[in-house]
Amino acid sequence: MTTDPRIDPVRSSPAAEQLQRGFPWLRFEGQLETQFRREQYEHGLVHLRLNIVLALGLVLAFIAMDRLVLAASAGHVAWLRYAVILPSLVLCLAVTFIPHRWHLFQWVVNVLAPLVLVAIVAQVLGAPASGSATIFPVLVLVTIFIYFLVGLSFYGAVRTNLIGLAAFVIGAAMVDIPAEQTSYQAMVLFFGNLVGATVAYNLQNARRTGWLEAMMLAEMAERDGLTGTYNRRRLDGHLRRAWQQGIREQCPMALLMIDIDFFKAYNDRYGHQAGDEALKAVAGVLARAARRPLDFVARYGGEEFLVVLYDTTREYAAELAKKTLEGVADLRIPHAASSISRVLTVSVGVACVVPVSGRSADGFVQLADEALYAAKNTGRNCVHVMESEYAQLRTGSFRVANG
Ligand code: GH3
Ligand code: MG
Ligand code: MG
Repeated sequence: MTTDPRIDPVRSSPAAEQLQRGFPWLRFEGQLETQFRREQYEHGLVHLRLNIVLALGLVLAFIAMDRLVLAASAGHVAWLRYAVILPSLVLCLAVTFIPHRWHLFQWVVNVLAPLVLVAIVAQVLGAPASGSATIFPVLVLVTIFIYFLVGLSFYGAVRTNLIGLAAFVIGAAMVDIPAEQTSYQAMVLFFGNLVGATVAYNLQNARRTGWLEAMMLAEMAERDGLTGTYNRRRLDGHLRRAWQQGIREQCPMALLMIDIDFFKAYNDRYGHQAGDEALKAVAGVLARAARRPLDFVARYGGEEFLVVLYDTTREYAAELAKKTLEGVADLRIPHAASSISRVLTVSVGVACVVPVSGRSADGFVQLADEALYAAKNTGRNCVHVMESEYAQLRTGSFRVANG
């Protein structure tokens, strides 16, 4: 008797699977990557803006410093500050104010960061020979800034800094600065990059691991520990939301309430551990049967399960109930203490309504409960579909008007 892997709380979780597989290339599979990047961007937005403002402040401070201390030593490339560096930073900052555009920001920063870096390289190399050594540390500072503070991915930061390093080496060969000086500086820059990339990789790795762990915990918190189906808390939230949406969209919904027959007797006869295994097996049948994307299976309590179907037909709901009944019987779990069968069976109550305001999701559950009660009264191991349509029920309650 095994549980359907689809509803195992750990194995069926994309976050847990990714965590198990690892992500040495700092990339998740499928939707997880998009979700991670979007959340990282949106949660870090305030910090990101502060970092860009800090970068703007630094550029302005260096401009002032050059004028005061070095007497405008940046020479003939000083215009790059006003034409490239400052506008790029302002543009990046502006893009962060366009809502939900993390893709756009990534694109803009991936284009502008190398441009700014090359402009700074030009500043460093364009300064008179004496000035070059003086302002070179700025380049190391910018390298670190690019790794950690401008919201670039690890690969974006590495690519940007490699472009900067290449620009420095090529530029140095073209200008009139002593070769020993520039080769020493290129080496400092190279090792600065190595250290920066190593720390950035480890940081990114830890951040991604933490994110997956938090996601896995959140997923597990809404699952039932024994069966792996959604738990009661998640069910209540889901039902409330689906009900409200059903009212807005006038969408037919159905509820299946499933209860194991003579389960107390099963426990008494075979023990609670065997009972637990039987519960898991029944949950597996439900998970296999309710396969549409919006089908929702939860443990309602004890040996009762609830399946919530959104945008469904009475036929689909009844068919699913029948499949559940047959699926559980096909498990062939011996139940010698049952008065109706030699194997474990379930009874299923089905309720179908089109939600309207003024009626509650609780009443809907009550309706499914009544259908289940009817199935139990009919002799168990059967399905009872509540035939009464919503219109025939008393206002404010889901009880049958003449029942
Ligand atoms: P009916 O056919 O009318 O549904 O009878 P029943 O015996 O199934 O119903 P009853 O409500 O009398 O008993 C339900 C039993 O389900 C009692 C309880 O021990 C058992 N049960 C509830 N939760 C668990 C669980 O997590 N594990 C196990 N092993 N048993 C459970
Ligand atoms: Mg029960
Ligand atoms: Mg029962």
